[in-house]
Amino acid sequence: MHPFSFTKATDTREALNAGRQGGRYIAGGTTLVDLMRETVERPETLVDISDLPLREVSVTERGGLRIGALVSMTETAAHPKVRALFPLVSEALELSASAQLRNMATIGGNIMQRTRCTYFRDVTADCNKREPGSGCAALHGFNRMHAILGTSESCVATHASDVAVAFAALEATVHLLGPDGERRVPFADFLLRPGNTPNQEQNIRRGELITAVEIPALPRPLKSGYLKVRDRQSYEFALTSAAVALHVRGGVIREAKVAAGGVGTVPWKLPAVERHLIGERPSDALWTAAAEQAAGGARPLENNRFKVALLKRTVERQLRVVGGTK
Ligand code: SF4
Repeated sequence: MHPFSFTKATDTREALNAGRQGGRYIAGGTTLVDLMRETVERPETLVDISDLPLREVSVTERGGLRIGALVSMTETAAHPKVRALFPLVSEALELSASAQLRNMATIGGNIMQRTRCTYFRDVTADCNKREPGSGCAALHGFNRMHAILGTSESCVATHASDVAVAFAALEATVHLLGPDGERRVPFADFLLRPGNTPNQEQNIRRGELITAVEIPALPRPLKSGYLKVRDRQSYEFALTSAAVALHVRGGVIREAKVAAGGVGTVPWKLPAVERHLIGERPSDALWTAAAEQAAGGARPLENNRFKVALLKRTVERQLRVVGGTK
């Protein structure tokens, strides 16, 4: 591990001052400390923000949900308001990592986590995300876990977060506070596709701090759920996943929010699937036809061609689970 200095911020102003000078924020530390041990990350200054007042879950005036950036994954998943309003968020969190990690990791840290691409974590391998311009060992290496959507010639790594898939489906907003004031970024614009700059992963400016994630209100009743398909039943990342929320009134689907994980360089919103559902009556045939739209634009790699069919099946199954069978 490279030497670094450590400071604990006692209030937001102090944190922002340290962040403006290049300090890296740390709270749960479940990703960053690992990466520092492996010398993938070499920050000169860590700024501990775990004492900042960002630990509240609240219902917004319009009936949405605001989750403070420092609320742990465990606390978020168990919160009665989260379970009542957006159970898919709880499900996505409970299917993530281990209980010990969920107790430490925060919502802000979760969406800032870096890829689990093994070449990224191996400092002897070529990796454009870690060392821009060095190449991508995964392109012609073992790429079974890698992305089939949103890839570039520079990087094909997936984003590993489960709850980010739920946030993408529900069209959440990320609240940021920085030296220039507050900013709100739609979740779809927060995590960046790799393009030619895979080292830039988030739409976040120097010194900015995530303060909360806000999920907008959706019409009620709303049924929702998260399905994660993986090689083993715990402590494993998704091969594919699907976050689904449906509002059905008068026997017709009025709202559909769908996103997939494990397949994209960012959590992958599925607007073509959503369009196929809205205005239709739930049926097995509808779930199958809508899920057929899920893999549009996919560019599989040598070892992950199976993800195209698996993605469609995952979406179809979760549509059926949430929407019911007729
Ligand atoms: Fe690095 Fe991305 Fe290639 Fe993995 S897929 S080796 S993270 S550039």
